[in-house]
Amino acid sequence: MSDIIKLLPDSVANQIAAGEVIQRPASAVKELLENAVDAGATAIDLFIKEAGKTLIQVIDNGCGMSAMDARMSFERHATSKIKKAEDLFAIRTMGFRGEALASIAAIAQVEMKSRPMEEELGTCLFIEGSQVKSQEPCPCKPGTGIAVKNLFYNVPARRNFLKSNTVETRHIIEEFTRVALVNPEIAFSMTHNEKPVFRLPKGAPKARIVSIFGKNYNERLLPVEQEASRIKISGFIVKPEFARKTRGEQYFFVNGRFIKHPYLHHAVENAFADLLPTDAFASYFINIGIDPADIDINIHPTKTEVNFQDARYVYAVLQAAVKQSIGRHSLTPAIDFDKDPAIDAMFANPTGEIKQPHITINPDYNPFVENPRTQGQAFHPPTSKGDKNWEKLFQTPDDASSKQQLINDDQQPEINKIDDNRFFQVHNRFILTNVRSGLMIINQQKAHERILYERFLSEIENKQAVSQQQLFPVTLQFPPADAEIVRALKAPLNLLGFTFDTIGNNGFVFQGIPEGMKESDIEGVLEKVIEEEKKKTGNLNADINTTLAKSLAARLSVKPGTALSALEMGSIFDSLFACQVPEVAPDGSNIITIVALSDLEKYLKEKGK
Ligand code: ADP
Ligand code: MG
Repeated sequence: MSDIIKLLPDSVANQIAAGEVIQRPASAVKELLENAVDAGATAIDLFIKEAGKTLIQVIDNGCGMSAMDARMSFERHATSKIKKAEDLFAIRTMGFRGEALASIAAIAQVEMKSRPMEEELGTCLFIEGSQVKSQEPCPCKPGTGIAVKNLFYNVPARRNFLKSNTVETRHIIEEFTRVALVNPEIAFSMTHNEKPVFRLPKGAPKARIVSIFGKNYNERLLPVEQEASRIKISGFIVKPEFARKTRGEQYFFVNGRFIKHPYLHHAVENAFADLLPTDAFASYFINIGIDPADIDINIHPTKTEVNFQDARYVYAVLQAAVKQSIGRHSLTPAIDFDKDPAIDAMFANPTGEIKQPHITINPDYNPFVENPRTQGQAFHPPTSKGDKNWEKLFQTPDDASSKQQLINDDQQPEINKIDDNRFFQVHNRFILTNVRSGLMIINQQKAHERILYERFLSEIENKQAVSQQQLFPVTLQFPPADAEIVRALKAPLNLLGFTFDTIGNNGFVFQGIPEGMKESDIEGVLEKVIEEEKKKTGNLNADINTTLAKSLAARLSVKPGTALSALEMGSIFDSLFACQVPEVAPDGSNIITIVALSDLEKYLKEKGK
């Protein structure tokens, strides 16, 4: 029998390896950005086209490569960062396997231009499916530019497996954000289909977070600092009162690379303890500096997982650091000592000249005169005469409008005639009523959620939703990846009654919102929608109507603790039984239970024994 075992050609081996390292355009973005950071660049620009499916280009001003290195860099296991096995444990940065460029070149058409500062000419190299097509000297700027075209052009199965442009763009934004967050001393930019997405000047770590996530993060962040033996923790957490309903800003970096770590995540969540509302998530941006000998980073091909040798120790230090930061904050909540005026200036006047501030002086000021009117900006305590709206401040968000909605829901006149004694409310949470077989118990919130859900869903589907126009449009900012979702959902959101324009990259101006909704609900409802969307893995538009109706219903339903009148209870009862599925809430929980008379009797008898 002849021999049948053969070594795979390199190009095939590379393609197989590529499957591990490069799963989607975002993975190539991550590898290219990290290489540029490793090359010591101070400015890195990312250009993509069609969510990276046709072009991913990264240009840096780093150390560049010689002609020989440029060629070598595409070989598998070619790296300048590890020379011997011990280096694996001694390097400061992470996860070098010399596989990224080789993998990318196996599944795309790649053009690289690179020039070390000290050389006059650079090298231009073109490689396609692991085959070098050309290499020649060329004039170019110092640094490296790599253009990756038509990713997966030769692996149609993979290409077809890619998600919609919106989803792929979101992944790219996420990778970009991770690299940019932990390298604030490097200027970054991202451009998608020739439109700028980010322009991030170099600056302090806090300024970097703010320039990515929006100006309102300036007041939301609390610094976290802790140095212990062999480990240093630094970064920021978002104050508990600004916790969001959508998971998202949860960033751990170990020695300058993003990682995921559920165990350490738990440490942070624990430190927040009961300061977070039940359905809100802790947000954090935390750097962990640790001796590389104390970690093992090569357990996952995409290098987002890390094994700590003593994870419990890291847990304890981290938890203490976060607790301390929250503790300090609750002692001095009023004044933000860390507020960096440079950040405000950056947004107030991004390009214009800096003007000398204008100072006005009140010549009549006399601290010994008690008449507040002559005292410039004296503090006026709220008086019931002066500010008629003050009572509104004390209304809970659910008080007014959702009740109104309940009543508007049902315009059947006979409701007014219902017997006031038909319903009974228990602890402002459950509605009790007699039914033939016994006692019916209704969860008031879940019932209302079901009613609203079916109403919203039918309004969207029949395009009947009414939009109420805002007198003063409301402007909101979302983190970039979330903003991408809101943009993608514009059409279905319109159908629901949201009308809005985008401003800047991540800002939205809402002119209209669904009828019955309050301005203060907009952010919460959208966060809920975003969270639901993130949980889905598939196409963004799949079943979006259900998600929207669910989120809105959950947000606007009458909450436990709300006292209901007999009329309102009757309205809930009747509307609930007009629903298609009265028994189950949109989240799957039970709305109704019936306790049979015979069971009640049995229960009492047993108790009496
Ligand atoms: P690794 O980063 O694990 O070493 P890569 O395949 O990503 O492996 O890169 C291979 C080598 O190519 C790197 O070790 C580095 O020497 C060189 N290289 C890659 N990108 C750049 C760049 N932007 N600037 C300078 N050198 C680079
Ligand atoms: Mg690399």
